[in-house]
Amino acid sequence: SRAKLFDEKTDLKTTFKDVAGLEGAKEEIQEIVEFLRNPEKYTTLGGKIPKGALLVGPPGTGKTLLAKAVAGEAKVPFFSLSGSDFVEMFVGVGASRVRDLFKQAKDKAPAIIFIDEIDAVGRARGKNNFSGSNDERENTLNQLLTEMDGFGTNTHVIVLAATNRADVLDKALMRAGRFDRQIYVDLPDVRERKEIFEVHLQPLKKVEGLDIEFLAKQTPGFSGADIANVCNEAALIAARHNKTAVDKQDFLDAVDRIVGGLEKKNKIVT
Ligand code: ATP
Repeated sequence: SRAKLFDEKTDLKTTFKDVAGLEGAKEEIQEIVEFLRNPEKYTTLGGKIPKGALLVGPPGTGKTLLAKAVAGEAKVPFFSLSGSDFVEMFVGVGASRVRDLFKQAKDKAPAIIFIDEIDAVGRARGKNNFSGSNDERENTLNQLLTEMDGFGTNTHVIVLAATNRADVLDKALMRAGRFDRQIYVDLPDVRERKEIFEVHLQPLKKVEGLDIEFLAKQTPGFSGADIANVCNEAALIAARHNKTAVDKQDFLDAVDRIVGGLEKKNKIVT
């Protein structure tokens, strides 16, 4: 059976209100929402709608979430795949999968294509690559460039790609008419962490008067994904202790647990 290449999310429920903080990034990407909602308004004066934008930032900061929210706000289909899938799952057929993907998106245009971990295919060509399948990766990358060059500005497909390593990307990807816009998605500051907590505390049964500002202050360096994790973990810890509401101590225990996990991860890396 054929591996599933991408999901066309038909439930476009994610919108900007699900993305806490990231005001600058949301403002920049709002332009793409406008293009997708009303492409003719922009092309009628002879302007060219951008074909792609690169979302750059550390893991777990909401790049995928933001891309989904663009589709949700514009109410257009969302096609997504991960760069690492190409390299690991589709050996020998990467280029044809890219062709398939663009064809499907064009048929449903206006649409968003989202490529997570684009660095897995988009590393600078001709450099050493330890996975060994260098030609395969290059063919896939070349096909991606060909597709982006090939569709006209009236195709109304916008490709968003995410990476935490913009520095390793092939410069050809960033050329005009490709991913010529970069949008930075940074780790949240204390104020943004509070907003992210507010989003992820919403579904929890918690004690009254929980000090969210305190939680934000206890979590420097945490990404949005880490905070989502803390909230979920806190609920599980509270349940394990047969509590009827999640309290401050459960959150502190959850923070400790996540910090422990992060330290372990860092140890493996270094
Ligand atoms: P990666 O680089 O690891 O793919 P990413 O930047 O794409 O990560 P997401 O997958 O969007 O990060 O984030 C993972 C989850 O973390 C989200 O589904 C959401 O639950 C939570 N999250 C991350 N950032 C935010 C945010 N700014 N607001 C609310 N939730 C967030």
